[in-house]
This record gives sequence, C-alpha cells and structure tokens, in this order.
Amino acid sequence: DFAADVESGLNQLKRKRIAVMTSGGDAQGMNASVRAVVRTAIDHGCEAFAVLEGYEGLIRGGEYIKPMSWDDVRGWLSLGGTAIGTARCLGFRERKGRLTAAHNMIKSGIDAIIICGGDGSLTGADLFRSEWPSLLEELVSTGVCAAEDIAGHENLNICGLVGSIDNDMCTTDATIGGYSSLQRICESVDYIDATAQSHSRAFVIEVMGRHCGWLALMAAIATGADYLFIPERAPSPLSWGKEMCDVVERHRNNGKRKSVVIVAEGAIDDQLNAITPDMVKDVLVDKLGLDTRVTTLGHVQRGGPAVAFDRMLATLQGVEAVEAILSQTPDKPSPMIAINENKICRKPLVDSVALTKSVADAIDSRDFDKAMSLRDPEFIENLDSYYAILSADEKVASKPAEKPLNVAIICIGAPAGGMNAAIRSAASYCFARGHKPYAIHNGWTGLARHESIRELNWLEVEEWCSKGGCEIGTNRNLPETDLGMIAYYFQKYKLDGLIIVGGFEAFNSLNQLENARINYPAFRIPMVCLPATVSNNVPGSEYSLGSDTCLNSLVEYCDVIKQSASSTRERVFVVEVQGGNSGYCATYAGLVTGAHAVYTPESGISLRLLESDIDFLKTQFKHDNGRDRAGKLILRNEKSSKTFTTQILADIIKEEAHGNFETRTAIPGHVQQGGIPSPMDRVRATRFAVKCVQFLESSQSIRDKHVSEQSDNYVVIGIRGATVVNTPIRRLYDFETNIGERRPKKAHWTKLGEVADMLVARPKSA
Ligand code: ATP
Repeated sequence: DFAADVESGLNQLKRKRIAVMTSGGDAQGMNASVRAVVRTAIDHGCEAFAVLEGYEGLIRGGEYIKPMSWDDVRGWLSLGGTAIGTARCLGFRERKGRLTAAHNMIKSGIDAIIICGGDGSLTGADLFRSEWPSLLEELVSTGVCAAEDIAGHENLNICGLVGSIDNDMCTTDATIGGYSSLQRICESVDYIDATAQSHSRAFVIEVMGRHCGWLALMAAIATGADYLFIPERAPSPLSWGKEMCDVVERHRNNGKRKSVVIVAEGAIDDQLNAITPDMVKDVLVDKLGLDTRVTTLGHVQRGGPAVAFDRMLATLQGVEAVEAILSQTPDKPSPMIAINENKICRKPLVDSVALTKSVADAIDSRDFDKAMSLRDPEFIENLDSYYAILSADEKVASKPAEKPLNVAIICIGAPAGGMNAAIRSAASYCFARGHKPYAIHNGWTGLARHESIRELNWLEVEEWCSKGGCEIGTNRNLPETDLGMIAYYFQKYKLDGLIIVGGFEAFNSLNQLENARINYPAFRIPMVCLPATVSNNVPGSEYSLGSDTCLNSLVEYCDVIKQSASSTRERVFVVEVQGGNSGYCATYAGLVTGAHAVYTPESGISLRLLESDIDFLKTQFKHDNGRDRAGKLILRNEKSSKTFTTQILADIIKEEAHGNFETRTAIPGHVQQGGIPSPMDRVRATRFAVKCVQFLESSQSIRDKHVSEQSDNYVVIGIRGATVVNTPIRRLYDFETNIGERRPKKAHWTKLGEVADMLVARPKSA
C-alpha cells in the first residue's frame, strides 16, 4: 500500500550508517583499510563510524562508536598498527556481551559493520550475525528496547576483512599485514645472515604463526634458510633432529659458512610435542658442534608501516567491503573479502572461517595431510619448491627427471629485484632434477661476442636469493643482430631449453627467437620468458618480478617527501616516477601514498586535466586553512607528456597558486630499482623459476614436431586474474601487445587509478 511504499522509500533514502572495527592482533595495513572504508562509505552517501578498541568498544558503546569524517583518516596510509585501537575482548565471547553490543548498535543506529581482524575476530562476527535475531528478540522481550527501536535493524549486515600478520585464513592468498610482517622478518634474517656468515655460526630464528607456517615458509624461501619447522608439516619426534642435521651438515660440507633454521611459533612434531628453538639449538650444538644462537623476533614482526602491497590490499579490500555491504541482502551469506593471485573477490565468511578452523582441528588430530590440503595451492607449491631446492646440493639428483636437460638462463633489460633469486631457484631446481644449468652472462652480446656462458655451481647461487641487482649481468641488446652466433653457441652447448628473465626486451627477444627458429634449428627448443621489470609492462602477466621492490622503494620515498611537505605546510611535491610507457607504478604508488593526482602515459596530460587538478589543489589548501595539513603529492610518470615535464608541471602549478602554496620536484630515479629485493619478489621468483623449469621439462618433444606446431613451446609465464599461466608469445605479440608503446593493449590496473581518485576526492575532469 501507499504508506508502506513511502516508508520503504524513506528507508532507502535514509543514509546508511556503516561502522568499521579492527580486532585481534594489530597488523600493518589496518589503518589503510579503515581509511578506505570511511571514505568509500562517505563517497556512497553513507555515514561512517569507527568502533574503537575492537569488540570492547562495541560492548562499551557511547563514545566508543565514533562518527568519522573524510579528514579524520588523513595520513593513515603510512601509519603502522591501528589508529582506532584493537583489543582481545573476553566479554564478547559471552552472549551477555554480545547482547550489550547489539543494544549499543541499535542505539547508535548502525546498519552494517565491517570487521578487520583474524579468524578469531571473524568467528565472533559470524556468531554475532547468526545470533542477531535472537538478541533483538531478547532486547524487546526484556523491555530493554521497544519494538519500534529495532525496526529496520532486523538483519545484521556484516563483512569481514582479513587483517592478520599470520596469513592463516583459508580461501584468501594474502591477509592484510602478512607481507609487511614478512618484510620485517626477512630484513631481520638478512641482518643476522651477515653476522652468521662472519662467525660461521648457526642461527635458529623463531617467527610468528601458531597454526600456520606461512610466514616461516615464505621467510625460509626468501632468505634461503637451511631448514624449516612449521605446524602443517610435522616430522617424527625420533627423526627430525637427524633429518635437519643431515641437510645442515651437507650444506656445510659443500662450502656454506652459515646455517639458518626457521621455526614457526607453533612448530610441532607428529605427536603434537612442541619443537622449540632451544630444542633445535641443542641438537645443532650436540650433534654438529655448531656455534648456535637463538633469535626470537617477537613483536618486531607487527611493527612499522605497511609495505606497498598491504596498503594496496587493504585499500582495495576496504572499498570492496563497502560495496559488498551495500549490495548485501538478508538471504545472502555474509561476505569476507579475499584475494586470489591478483584478484580481489568475495567469499562466504562462514565457510572461510570453518575451513580455517578445520586446519587447526586437522593438526590437533594429527591429520597433517588434511591440514596441508586445506592450504591454498600456492602454499603447497612453495613448500614443494622449498624442499626440492633444499636438496639441490646432493651428489645424486634427489628428484631426477626422466631426461636430463641443458638449461640456459639469461637476463635481459634493466636489473629488477628478484632476478638473482630467480636464477638461484631455477639453477637449484635444475640440480635437484639432474639438469645442467648454464648462465649466459651480459645478455645476448655477451654470448655472441665473448662466449660468456658457463655452468653454474650450487655454492655460488646458494647465496643469491636476497641479493639485489643481477649477478650474471644484464643489458638491453636484442638477439636479432647476432642470431647466427647465438644459434652456434646454442648448438655448441647442446641447449635443450632457455629461460629469459627480464622486461619488455626479454619479451621481444623471445619473439625474435621464435621467429628465427625457421632458419635456425638450434632455436627449436622450449623457451620461457619470466617477466622481471620495475615497469611491470610485460604482456601476459599482471605482475613482474621487481615491481613490488620498486613500489616499496617508491612508497618509502614518498612517505619521506610527504612528511616534509606536511611540515613545511604550503608545498606540493611533483614526484617523477619510472615505468616507461606504462603508468602501472605511478598509479599503484598514487593509490598507496594518497597522491592528489597521478599522470600516466596512458591518459596523458591535457590542459583541461591540469586546470581541473590545480583547482582541486587550490580548494584543498583553502580547506586546510588553520588545520593540520597532510603533505600533498603529485606523481608524474616519466613519459606522461613530452610538453609537461616534471619541472614545467611544478612551475605551472606554482604560478597558478599565486603565492598561496609552492611546489618542489623530486626524482627518485634509479633508487626505484630498490636495493635488497622485497620478500614477495624473492618468493615469487622461486615460484616462477621452478615453474619455468617444469615447463621446459614438459615440452621436451619439441624437436620431433613440425615447425608450424611449435608455437606453444615459446611462452611467457605470468599471473593473469586468479591463476598462473603460460601464454604463447605468438598470441601475446600478435594480439595483445601495443608494440609501439611497449605495453599490453589492455591495462589490468585501471581500477587502481579510479579507486585512488575516489579516495582523495579528485574531481573527474571533463
Ligand atoms: P590474530 O590472528 O591476530 O590472533 P584474531 O582475530 O584471530 O587475530 P583473537 O584474539 O582470536 O584474534 O580474536 C579477537 C577477538 O574476537 C576476541 O578477543 C573476541 O573478542 C572475539 N572472538 C574471537 N573468537 C570468538 C568467538 N568464538 N566468539 C565470540 N567472539 C570471539
């Protein structure tokens, strides 16, 4: 009827009140998610609230449920910890506590709540939602609330964001804080490595992870640790000491001066007895006589600002959470926001929580195979790769392939973080399989003109996983001018497969060799391009090694600049970002530093856009008047415009500001290549490198095939959407590449720019 229609219309018009809360252990990136939720909610015309101190704040109510404005979350991207507080709240575990919480939510008129926390927090949220109708009933039946008070609140609308350094939630590849924590761990292990190496010592390092070995496993891969103990792979109490000593002793006998063993906090044997760092140390001292020290990293792992990836993850997931809340209906299960490979997606919260709990249950009931099977495929692949590489120094190949191959590895283009880790892992995996890995030094010219090719040995590559730069030398030259000589050496060394690590020139090299195979039978071998470039512009992959390291350097740089800009107040910095003709780095960095404008080659710089952005800056400065000011950044990709150079942009903005604010330029240049590669680049280098060798193995029959059938044997490995795939170069080059602009035809990251603009309220220029 008419009255009901009017009421439902009014209800819809009513601005939704969306609250955000952080709960459980703090994790880097939580602030970025709160910022994203608050601003997205406001952008959608809703009212934003923060529940302070986790569930404790929900039980206390009143001022603990705080309205949040756009400005309240300024500068939060670079803040560590959680600025709205978190707690472990016993009260919420009781129905009485949840009843009070429900009452407080009704009183504050909260329609929906987004909870950023670990599995415990999301279990609590799930329980709260399932109990909600009965809690309301009790509030009304006991006279605490009147029936009209609860009208419109019949269903609790919740959404989970996984904020936890442990990365222990099933159905998502990464949790907010996981990679930042991994960064802290790897920095520490890298430091310890230097002293271990100097004294020829052994170190046992304990990292967090009660039920989940993700941090320990990733750290072990990224730092090349000699041994690892995690809860999912529990060894026999009778044999773990000997198994570890066998590996450590062999590594020592083969020339390693240091030994590092990583132990997850929850490491156990298969009888569920704890394996503690001190127990591991005692074994190393007693059995091998090594000078051994224990380091427990503790809360350092939660510390510091979030890395670029976590800021991106937290931001995109925060935006997605609000959108999920707004499209939620009572019949749909509550969502949890996940990421699979490179794709943000929604998963049913209740299933994810149940699955996660079943891992802990499987471990408790000693069903370790089940626990492992419930981890995501990347975890299992990484674990397999780690163990394969661990045995790379055995005299007899530990996992011999059917047919041993001669595998060449070459780096092409500018250095990128993770190149050395990729060579190390590819070579080590080759050793484990009984193949012979060759390094081609100094690119195509190195091979063609100086025969710079040689077999790699285990000890030299063993130390390479955390090294920046490129140990075998790299340059931009393409093979086309030296094809004859290159083919000659391919034949001379009887190469059966090739891994080309690098950026767009690596991609181009693969294309040229694939074309040249008609004339040169030596090129009729499987070849794979492993994308590695800070520009992340290789078609066939949404991610290139080195881009994460680059973004971290850029984010650190911009944080410093932003702090300077905010201290000197009336100043805008125009930062010039690398990336060639791809705006990926500039756009991503803009998203995670809160830049006021980002200019990319894809969209260029028009007078109209510039005018709109200058007007925007003017209103921002006016708005700031008399208040604390967050520094303002503009990011300009180096190739965005021939006319509007970084300096000219800065000059124009300064002139237009008419003395109200001034500008400075900042050019990080080659600093963006990063020093030490990020753990993500190192771990993904290993994952990709192992997959590259596996691809070469699976394509062995190539020589039997007719030339016209061989295209599938020349591929680019990459992450596309939610999977890792090999795509034939022919398809990529002919259909998916903008050759002139040296980038894929379709940018996968356009959404990053849209979200970045929305979160700083940058107006759309006409
Ligand atoms: P982390 O992964 O960092 O440990 P977490 O969210 O798992 O984070 P917990 O201490 O397990 O951390 O949970 C945080 C809070 O969530 C608890 O203090 C409690 O208030 C609430 N909570 C956890 N489990 C439940 C439950 N089963 N029922 C109700 N509330 C719960």
